[in-house]
Amino acid sequence: MKERTAELAVVSNKSFQASTAVNLHHYDISSALQTTLEFNELIAIFCNKIQATVPHNSVEYTNDEFGLSFKRGIVGRHSCSYALKVEDQQLGELKLTRTHRFGKDELAMLESLLCCLIYPLRNATLFHQALQMAYTDPLTQTHNRAGFNDMLAREIKRANRCEQHLSLIFVDIDHFKALNDEYGHDCGDMALAAVASKVKDSVRGSDVVFRYGGEEFVIMLIDTNLDAAAVIAERVRTCIESQTLAYGMEVLNITASLGVSSLRGNENMESFIKRADTAMYKAKQTGRNRVCVA
Ligand code: GH3
Ligand code: MG
Ligand code: MG
Repeated sequence: MKERTAELAVVSNKSFQASTAVNLHHYDISSALQTTLEFNELIAIFCNKIQATVPHNSVEYTNDEFGLSFKRGIVGRHSCSYALKVEDQQLGELKLTRTHRFGKDELAMLESLLCCLIYPLRNATLFHQALQMAYTDPLTQTHNRAGFNDMLAREIKRANRCEQHLSLIFVDIDHFKALNDEYGHDCGDMALAAVASKVKDSVRGSDVVFRYGGEEFVIMLIDTNLDAAAVIAERVRTCIESQTLAYGMEVLNITASLGVSSLRGNENMESFIKRADTAMYKAKQTGRNRVCVA
C-alpha cells in the first residue's frame, strides 16, 4: 500500500481565484462550499463533488489542534493524504482511500481541487473556535449557561423525535459563601475549578457539564433515564465529597447537593429545569450533601 503525504499550501488568493476562473468544476465546488460553516458538512460536500473526478471509498479528516474529526465510508487498501495548510495555519489532514491505486493525474487534479477547500475549511475552523470560546466558562473550562440553553433546546427536540430519555443533574456546592468568607475569593475560585474538574472526571464522555451560575453546575445526560441519572448523581456526589483539596496549609472539605430530573412527554424546557432545581433545593433542605430526585 502506498501512502502519500503532501503539504498543500495556497500561496495567494490570486492563484486561487485564477484557478477557479478557468475551471467550472472548481467554481461549482467553491460555490457549494460557501453554503456551510460546519467542517463535517464541508468535507462531505467536497468529497461528493470530487467523487466523479477522483473516485474514492472513504474519507477521513482530522484536525488535532481544534479537536475535529470526520470519517465516512469503508477504508480501502490504497490511500492518499494531505496535510492542509493555509498561510501559517495548519488545517488538519485529509485522507482518501480506495481499493485501487490513485493515478498521477488524479492526484494532480485532487491537489488542484483541494485549493477550493482550504479557505472555506479555515473559515469553518475559526467559526468552530469562536463558538467554543463563546460557550466556555474560562474559570472552570466547562460549557457556560448560553451553551446550556442552546444545547438543551436541541436535545429536548431530539429526545422527543427519537423517543430517547434525557436527564439533568443540578449540582450546587454546599456553604460555598462560608468558604469564600473564610479563605478568600481566590481560594473559592480554585475550589470551583477543582470541583468542576472532578465533576467532569466522574461522568461519561457523552455527558456534558455546564456552569449554570456562580457555584452551580448542571450535567446533561443524553439517552439516560431517571434511575441511571440518579446513580450517576450519587457517584458525582461521592467524588466531590472524597476529594481532598489543599489551600496552603488548609484542607478544604467540600460537599454538594444534587437534584435530578428526567424529561417527561411534552414537557417544556422551563419545567424540566425547574424540577431538577427544585429537587436540588430539597437536597439542601433535607441536610445537604445528598441527591434528591424529582
Ligand atoms: P448553600 O449550601 O445553601 O448552597 O450555601 P452557599 O453559601 O453555597 O450559597 P449562596 O447562594 O448563599 O452563596 C453562593 C456563593 O458563591 C456566594 C458567591 O460569592 C459565591 N460565588 C459565586 N460565584 C463565584 C465565583 O466565581 N468565585 C468565587 N470565589 N465565589 C463565587
Ligand atoms: Mg447556589
Ligand atoms: Mg451553594
